[in-house]
Parts: sequence; C-alpha cells; structure tokens
Amino acid sequence: VVTDFDVIVLGAGSGGLTVAVGLARFGKRVALIERDAVGGDCTNAGCIPSKSLIHLVASDSALSPRAVLERVRAGRDRLRDEETAWVQGLEGLTLVRAAARFTSPHEVELKPEAGHEEHIRGRRIVVATGSRPSVISVDGLPAERILTNESLFELKDAPEHMAILGAGAIGCEMAFAFRRLGSRVTLVQRSERVLSRLEPEVGELIGQRLEREGVEVLVGARVDRFVEASRTLEVRQGAGAVRIDGVERVLMALGRRPNIDLDLEKAGVAVNPQGVTIDGTGRTNVRHIFAVGDVTPASGSTHAANALGRRVVRSIALRWLPAGRRPQIPAAVFTDPEVAHVGPPLAELRHRFPPELIRSVRIELADTDRGYTSGIEAGFVLLHALRLTGRVLSGTIVAPAAGEMIPLLTLAVQRRVTLWALSGLVFPYPVLSEALKKAADAFVFETLPRLPREVAAYARLRWRRRRPEPDRRSGAAHGAQVGPTVRSREG
Ligand SMILES: Cc1cc2nc3c(=O)[nH]c(=O)nc-3n(C[C@H](O)[C@H](O)[C@H](O)COP(=O)(O)OP(=O)(O)OC[C@H]3O[C@@H](n4cnc5c(N)ncnc54)[C@H](O)[C@@H]3O)c2cc1C
Repeated sequence: VVTDFDVIVLGAGSGGLTVAVGLARFGKRVALIERDAVGGDCTNAGCIPSKSLIHLVASDSALSPRAVLERVRAGRDRLRDEETAWVQGLEGLTLVRAAARFTSPHEVELKPEAGHEEHIRGRRIVVATGSRPSVISVDGLPAERILTNESLFELKDAPEHMAILGAGAIGCEMAFAFRRLGSRVTLVQRSERVLSRLEPEVGELIGQRLEREGVEVLVGARVDRFVEASRTLEVRQGAGAVRIDGVERVLMALGRRPNIDLDLEKAGVAVNPQGVTIDGTGRTNVRHIFAVGDVTPASGSTHAANALGRRVVRSIALRWLPAGRRPQIPAAVFTDPEVAHVGPPLAELRHRFPPELIRSVRIELADTDRGYTSGIEAGFVLLHALRLTGRVLSGTIVAPAAGEMIPLLTLAVQRRVTLWALSGLVFPYPVLSEALKKAADAFVFETLPRLPREVAAYARLRWRRRRPEPDRRSGAAHGAQVGPTVRSREG
C-alpha cells in the first residue's frame, strides 16, 4: 500500500523542519523523512555544538577540556531530544526514520535501518537533505587522524596539536575555540588570507587576532603529505616547504558538498555539482518539487535555509500571495571579535556599478565612545553606498557581538535605506552600533558641501552600462580605497 501525503519533506535539518512544521501548521498532511538525527547539521554537528563550545571556552575557565566537550555534547543531545519530541507531537506531521530516494516524480522509497522498505506518494516534495563535509585525501594521513565537523564534537579530550585545513568560517571559529581549550593549533589556508571570501580588511584583522591568540597561521599554503612516524604534516608555502611536527588530529574545514544521492534523475530534477538548481522561490525545474538549504547552491547557513523554507511554505500553502522580493541573507562568523556582513563585498560591487559611483566609509570602533569605554582595540564597520543618494549596498562589521548589530544593516540593504536616513536615526548613548551612525555622518558631511558636483557625477555615472558579473570562485583581489572618511575613485 502506498500512503499519500500533501507534502513529503526529505531531511529534518534547519530547512526541512521549517518547511514541514510550517506546512503542518497550515493544515497540510506532511511526511518528514530523516535518515539520521532530527535537527540535521545545525543541532547535531554544526551551529549548536560549535557555539556552545565557543561560549564555554570564553566563559568558564575552571572546566577541564574534557568537561567542556562533555558539556557541549550534553547540551546538544538535550536540545535534539526536545526537538524530536516536539516534532513527533505536531498534528498533521508524520516523522519517519528512513533514508529516502526518488522512484518517480511523485513517489519516494523509504529505507529504514531495520525493517521493510516502504513507498509513499506526495502531491509536492521538498528536498532538504543538506550537505556533508568535503574531505581531501592527503598522502600518508591515516583515517583515524582525520576530523570533520561530524566527528569533531565527539572528541573526548582536546587534541594536543590540531591542524586545521581551511580558514573559512568553520576553520577560524574552531581555531579560536580549540586554542582556548588548550590545543596547539595550526591553521593552513590555500589563499593569501583567512576568511578570504570576505572584505580583505576582515581577513587581515582576524589573521592577526588568531596569531595573537597563539594559532600558527599558514596562508598561501598547500598540504603535501603526512609522515606518521613523526606525525609531521608537510606543507608547501610559496617556493618553500614547512614541516608541522607532532600533529595529532587534522580537521578538514574545506567546504561542503550537497547530499544529492537521492536518484533525483528519476524525478527529472536538474542538479549540478553545487546542488539542486532552484529559482528564487525554491522551486526546481519540476513544478511540484522544491529544494531548500545546503542541498542548493545558494545556502550555507541555518538562517538562509530557514528564509528559503518560509518562502516554500508560502508558495505551497498560500499560493495566492505574491512571492515578494528575495530576502537579503546576512552572515556571521563567531570569531573574536565577531564578523558579520550583508551584501556583496566591494570587489563584486565594482562589477555591478561604475567604481566611481561607490562611496566607502570605514569607522574604527576605537574611535567611538563605547569603543573607548570598553577598551576595544580592534574592530570596525565598513559600509559601501551609492554616492549622492547614499543607498546602502553592503556592509561589514567586525566587533564583539557583530552578529547582533548586522540586522540594522540588513534592513538598510533590503529596504534601500540611505545613509542620510541612518544619519538621522537616534541611537542610545553609548552603544557600539553608533559606529554605523558615525559612518553615515561621515558620508553626509562629505557629500553636503559638494552637492552640485555629486548630483552631476551621479547623473553621469548611474546608468552607465554595467560590467558583467565576476566569476565568484576566482576570488579576484581588490583594494578597497577606504579610510576614516568617505572616498571614491574620483575623490
Ligand atoms: C561546524 C559548523 C558550524 C556552523 N555554524 C553555523 C552558524 O553558526 N550559523 C549558521 O547559520 N549556520 C551554521 N552552520 C551551517 C548550518 O549548520 C547549515 O547551513 C544548516 O544546518 C543547513 O540546513 P539544511 O536543512 O540545509 O541541512 P542539514 O541540517 O544538513 O539537514 C539535512 C538533513 O537531511 C538528512 N538527509 C540527508 N539525506 C537524506 C536522505 N536520503 N533521506 C533522509 N534524510 C536525509 C540528513 O541526515 C540531515 O539531517 C554551521 C555548520 C557547521 C558544519
């Protein structure tokens, strides 16, 4: 017997839970299929354990590394159990523990760990199967020395010496955390900076902070091989070779690969190596099949999976509602200080707008009153806006709790708020986010005295033909011409 559902959701991580719970609340009969643990990566091997670890190493120095890791796991397990019980109790939602694969455009085969296979049919199907860590093979490196995010939080104790391959968000966050836990940490990054996809100023500052913390940072470096006898990781850096001795574990933080091993071709769904192809509402090339979260090319965070999941709920349950604009997705990196950003970096903006049309403002936190009273040495806000109108195009904040400051900028970018408006906004005194107002003030004071010139430049430049989009993967270097006041290429 094949059971019918209004909607089948594959994967109970951040994206799948948003869709399944949302649709059940709108009265749909939903089957939620999960092959492993409810909560997916975020709850079990991502956001929750990593942020618990970062919190514990920053706050409770009395705990041993072993006790910290135990506490991380206990908190994670408690949350997962609560989430599971909550989902199981929801009306209209059936949670099935099984691995799923398509057998036809409307039918899915479920394979539980034990017991018989089962087939179910859905009017609509949502693929939310997430991603897994990319692992490279390193000559001579035994499997038992390799860590990924899936095994990292299962460690019983802090490794004596951890090498981390990849200095993106996860690599940098874990470098700070394990260093503070007492491990010797070596961070190996291929490109010339850590956090190389963000504005160059960010990587420079976070690189320095990592080094100050005692992390050995090797940039422009490539792993060659591992020699087990001396536990040496041999790395090529430029023309030279570096030997990192005594490495106990190697954490691979090299990016993610989408979980697309679902026989998607049997449903006719288009995929590429980056994941399932979707439009802005989460719909695939097959009208009744949607995809959300890390299995799609445009995600990579829980809030992105959640935001797209909400759009899918809307498309399915409230079809008469217009889709609306795609939301801006900010991002945060929980290093010390934190980094948060929204909108494209300057290098990318320069391909969308004539560079002379962009004004960039950077304010150091140390130059704000709250920065002064809190003794903040490092941190800044960096905003890019259109000249004259001051429309905020993107922004980066490096500050303690930068993630808490970014929503104001997200709103500005999303709703096309201008620096003129931000300059008129009243902030309580003294708060760090006043740096945003200071940036807006700097723009206003620079623009007002030369208004006629600004109007003429804007009129000349605004509708000039744009250059084609850059290849995002090339990570083309750029030099942001920014200082404490506003500058553009025209000056
Ligand atoms: C160390 C680390 C730290 C992170 N920190 C943050 C953070 O601070 N903030 C943030 O926003 N994001 C963070 N992320 C990213 C975030 O965890 C992911 O973007 C998010 O979990 C993606 O959600 P998802 O629903 O797309 O996929 P997942 O959460 O991976 O869920 C997919 C689910 O599908 C299941 N599944 C897969 N295939 C099948 C199948 N065939 N049948 C049935 N079930 C299947 C999987 O078991 C899994 O449970 C972090 C990630 C890592 C690794």
